[in-house]
Amino acid sequence: MRVAFLGLGIMGRPMAANLVKAGHEVAAWNRTAGKDVEGARSATTPADAAAGAEVVWICVSDTKAVEAVLFGADGVEQSLASGMIVADSSTISPSATRRFAERVKARGTDIAYVDAPVTGSKIAAEAGSLIFMAGGDEAVLARLQPLFHAMGKQVFHMGETSKGQAAKLAMNLQIALIYEGFAEALTLAAKLGVGVERLLPLVQASMVRSGVVDYKAPFLLQRDFSPNFPLRLMLKDIRLALDAAREARVRLPGLEAVEEVYDVAAEEGRQDLDYAATLTLLEKWAGVEVKSGI
Ligand code: NAP
Repeated sequence: MRVAFLGLGIMGRPMAANLVKAGHEVAAWNRTAGKDVEGARSATTPADAAAGAEVVWICVSDTKAVEAVLFGADGVEQSLASGMIVADSSTISPSATRRFAERVKARGTDIAYVDAPVTGSKIAAEAGSLIFMAGGDEAVLARLQPLFHAMGKQVFHMGETSKGQAAKLAMNLQIALIYEGFAEALTLAAKLGVGVERLLPLVQASMVRSGVVDYKAPFLLQRDFSPNFPLRLMLKDIRLALDAAREARVRLPGLEAVEEVYDVAAEEGRQDLDYAATLTLLEKWAGVEVKSGI
């Protein structure tokens, strides 16, 4: 298929590369020049990338960034044409997603909009084993199947447009709380004299084991806090979830507490590290370092 891929960050670049590998004709664009994808045409603007494309796939930071690539100067809107599908894998606001979809569809009744945020982080993006949670028409998702297949291993249809984003916020709420529990447990155990090298095998043997711990433990053991999922983006998602909760009159006291940890961690300069670096703030508060046996 002819695909415009917009946003070549930690996630977007390997996703676009996997589309090229699968034989799709890709035009790739990134706001800041210098990020390219081998085998893809480097487009000069979102409108340039989208011209003549069957599918426009977006993976940028946040709600404002999606709005900019769709409707800003030289945005996708200028190149929208009959039969085109816009798919957004960024994690953004569900209510803004509904507005964006309406504006895109207003350009032609047969233009479709799908929200398709992902879970799996950098490793799964590179391996082509992302999990998508999609909102949109079943028939449109079926047309996107070859692209989903090139970038991921599973697609969950969550309902109409914006329901993928709603599910994604519910997913990242859990990741933030699970990791916070793990990091607080490591910190307390270290302060009480039990190091990570002894606690971790116990965690992994028990019902406490989780995918979050499986993913993060090797990085923690190496004290490698380079970004797989930058802290600033997890904080963005925590705020998106709290905003959505306020709109829906839902209380999330656990997530509100975790937001404070992320706020301070970001204020103190950890925003571009992985969100796993919230551990270092807990360590600082406790006056202890979770030791590695490696
Ligand atoms: P990233 O590495 O920070 O990349 C962000 C991308 O967005 C870059 O290409 C950036 O362009 C672009 N961008 C930012 N503001 C823009 C604007 N105003 N206009 C146009 N482009 C703009 O982020 P990422 O990790 O790839 O994440 C991308 C999305 O996937 C986010 O919504 C994130 O929440 C979600 N996500 C990430 C992960 C993960 O583990 N990393 C997992 C699941 C979902 P520049 O190069 O010019 O800055």
